[in-house]
Amino acid sequence: MVIFAVLVLMNSYPLRSSQQMIFTSKESALKSSLDTMASALSGLSELTEENVAEGLATVEITGVSRAIVTDSSGKILYDTREVGNATGYQVFYTELVQALQGYDAFYTTYKDDAFRSTAAAPIVYRSDIIGAVYVYEYDRSQAELLQNLQKNLLSISVGIGAVVLTVSILLSKLLTVRIEDLLAAIRGVREGSYNHRADVGGHDEIAQIADEFNDLTNRLQVTEDARRRFVSDASHELKTPLATIRLLTDSILQAENMDEDMVREFVMDIGQEAERLSNITEDLLRLTRLDSGLEEEAQAVEAAPIVQRVCHSLRLLATEKHISLEVNIENECTVLATKGELHQVVYNLVENAIKYNHENGFVRVLLSAGADQVYITVEDNGIGIPEEDMSHIFERFYRVDKARSRAAGGTGLGLSIVRDTVRRRGGAVDVRPRAGGGSIFTIRLPKSRKEGGEK
Ligand code: ADP
Repeated sequence: MVIFAVLVLMNSYPLRSSQQMIFTSKESALKSSLDTMASALSGLSELTEENVAEGLATVEITGVSRAIVTDSSGKILYDTREVGNATGYQVFYTELVQALQGYDAFYTTYKDDAFRSTAAAPIVYRSDIIGAVYVYEYDRSQAELLQNLQKNLLSISVGIGAVVLTVSILLSKLLTVRIEDLLAAIRGVREGSYNHRADVGGHDEIAQIADEFNDLTNRLQVTEDARRRFVSDASHELKTPLATIRLLTDSILQAENMDEDMVREFVMDIGQEAERLSNITEDLLRLTRLDSGLEEEAQAVEAAPIVQRVCHSLRLLATEKHISLEVNIENECTVLATKGELHQVVYNLVENAIKYNHENGFVRVLLSAGADQVYITVEDNGIGIPEEDMSHIFERFYRVDKARSRAAGGTGLGLSIVRDTVRRRGGAVDVRPRAGGGSIFTIRLPKSRKEGGEK
């Protein structure tokens, strides 16, 4: 639109101003012709055909098509036109009437591909108007120049207009095609097919939006995959104990005269499976709560009593397996979390260290504090974790040895709960193998500043 406005301006302004310039040059040219004629007749007190012809005989009147001299009554005394010479006739041209009234007159028009200009001036003798001079010019050559200019400007404008129009259409097509590709990809993802990728090409903002969009869908895909895996793992985990319970109840119901000990054993097994189900659902609920971000506000929690309490409650389990459980409180310190959360994460790590240990093994729990962080380290010399499983053990339902985990009453969710809980509180958990066998888990949690940390 802007370019078209410029083109319209380009086609009107130069033409108008050149026309104006030509008008001005015509006016001065005609006036100088009038002046030459008037001054040649200036000494005459009265104008007659003879003295005018005589006066103008030596004057060269150039650049005009016709020159007329009249007396004060408007009768033509001198006319340069050969065909249709009007000498002796009375004329009433507006310009001449004005000139005879004492005014200079000039008119010019651009019509029918020619400039037509007329000018007239009075001839004065001792302040009496004794006649008037009149010139007329008909000019085609300047008009032709102007027309050529107009034609050239028009063809240049048409050319520019065509190029601009083609380029604009191409560019907007190119743009809309790419935006439509992007929209199609967005719609695809909205319909649930996360493998849709926007491929728009280029290096501009649209390409950047497409890259961001692809990044986003990649993440959605990962989240969606994790969600599906989680749902299928969870159903599988819940299905197994339910199937066992079903099998056991069917056996009891179908067997006739089953002896009492056997029934008792079956019912105990059912109880165990029910407990497993309840453990899994409890852990799942914990994770759901962590996922939805429903968390109690963190407080300054004294870590030492909680670590002591966890170890106290697990000591029986350790003793059963002849495992020594040592607690070392290096610094008394407070962390920013809730008591329940801290208890849960320490419990899960210490319980694992006992569960995945050998007879006569050891578990060492160390509580220490740095400048901003509190460290809880749980070290064991148990079965250890194979290198390739290290990066997976914090995933939901991941177990290195499924049978051993189940036998030990594990749900495969303990470490996920630990990781999600400490992350929510701005901390982290990591694991490394222990030289000489076993593993070392370390939890880092932000230290509470309110309580001044160490005491
Ligand atoms: P589980 O309920 O099976 O214990 P976790 O999430 O607590 O689930 O742990 C995941 C897996 O990591 C366990 O099944 C086990 O194979 C491994 N693991 C966890 N802690 C230890 C440890 N201290 N020593 C060896 N393996 C461990």
